[in-house]
Amino acid sequence: MNNWFDTVILLDIDGTLFHTEIFRNNIFNKLYSYHTSGSKEAFLQQVRSIYKNERDKKITNPKTILKTINTQLQLNIPEEKLMELIIEGDNFFDGMYDEVEKTIQDLSKKGITLGILSTGETQIQKTKISSIQNFINEENIHIYNLKDTEIDQVFAKYKDMRIYVIDDFLDFLLLIKKKNNVVKTVWINRKNSALPNDIEDDYLPDYQIKTLDELLTII
Ligand SMILES: [Mg+2]
Repeated sequence: MNNWFDTVILLDIDGTLFHTEIFRNNIFNKLYSYHTSGSKEAFLQQVRSIYKNERDKKITNPKTILKTINTQLQLNIPEEKLMELIIEGDNFFDGMYDEVEKTIQDLSKKGITLGILSTGETQIQKTKISSIQNFINEENIHIYNLKDTEIDQVFAKYKDMRIYVIDDFLDFLLLIKKKNNVVKTVWINRKNSALPNDIEDDYLPDYQIKTLDELLTII
């Protein structure tokens, strides 16, 4: 029989627990009120294209990206207002995927330790998961500017436990497998993407799920 108290699940936030596209669109829609001319559709297209450019340059900080949008589209939003625009409460509504809260409750009932392993800005990331915060101890919340370089120290904290890492980003799971083959990786593949052909078998994720509730059949 499994002893759940030996088990820790480290969850990614964006794309795993949280529907980041909804959140992002909520913010982009608000930016439109600062725009002076042109249709909303054309405006949103410009915003999305700048956003994509920034992400391609590996820029992930939402405030930095918003600053670039503000400058390039000459929205003239005062700089101190930018962070406010991001963290306004209604941006986060409907952001959590439907099955997440119930699944987190069920996993927690088993006595499994739940944690977060996320890249991003702490205040924003914590607001995204506020509806499940009662099930996750502060000491198990790991949020970094770039989580890829912090893996070793996070795993060291749970060295006597069975670790599962859940992420929608395949490359991150491959990185974990290369560093530590004992850790179980679970790819949450909500968009039904195909696995690339060139991954060596040793580095394939241990499990693939489409929605988070499928975790209950694995762990
Ligand atoms: Mg993600």
